[in-house]
Amino acid sequence: MLTSLTAVSGDFQREVEARSGQNLDGCLGCGTCTGSCPNISFYDYSPRELIALIRRGEKKRVLESRSIWYCLGCYTCEERCPGGIGLSRVMDACRELCLKEKYAVNGERVLLFHRLFLAQLARYGRAPEALLALQFNFRTKDYFRDLGLGRKMFLKGKIKLFPERISGQKEIRSFFREAGPRGVLPE
Ligand code: SF4
Ligand code: SF4
Repeated sequence: MLTSLTAVSGDFQREVEARSGQNLDGCLGCGTCTGSCPNISFYDYSPRELIALIRRGEKKRVLESRSIWYCLGCYTCEERCPGGIGLSRVMDACRELCLKEKYAVNGERVLLFHRLFLAQLARYGRAPEALLALQFNFRTKDYFRDLGLGRKMFLKGKIKLFPERISGQKEIRSFFREAGPRGVLPE
């Protein structure tokens, strides 16, 4: 029984390691990542706890956690981790596994934002803030959110109403075509 449990927990850890390119056995459990994380108030499990859960094979708890969706990918924890672990890549791997294996997404709004952002990137080569905010607010039925802030930013010339096209757009489109519906993209 012990052997089979070890095999199952090891399987999930190896799966995450293979996708992220990180060696989670290097985690010292020091909690520096948790102490450094600017988005920790949105997490249900701290980064240190997530690594421990992955190592224990708690696949469902990890893949259905809020934390994997609320990581900003800011790399602060990675800069400070004494074990050299790239946590944002671990979070990405967990998001991919969550979608691929159809676990419940505990961050629907974050996922929607990712998808809208990437769709604009594929289309225009950049994600124009005004259009992104409009689309996001429309899809979440929160129509007037950001209206006051958006108006101020527009009047100060900080945002544009219409997206600008960039040079090299053809290359970006072909990059998205080649990458295909992977990671956060599949519907
Ligand atoms: S900072 Fe690195 S070694 Fe310390 S708990 Fe976090 S992942 Fe583990
Ligand atoms: S990369 Fe993610 S987990 Fe690490 S500090 Fe930034 S938000 Fe927190």
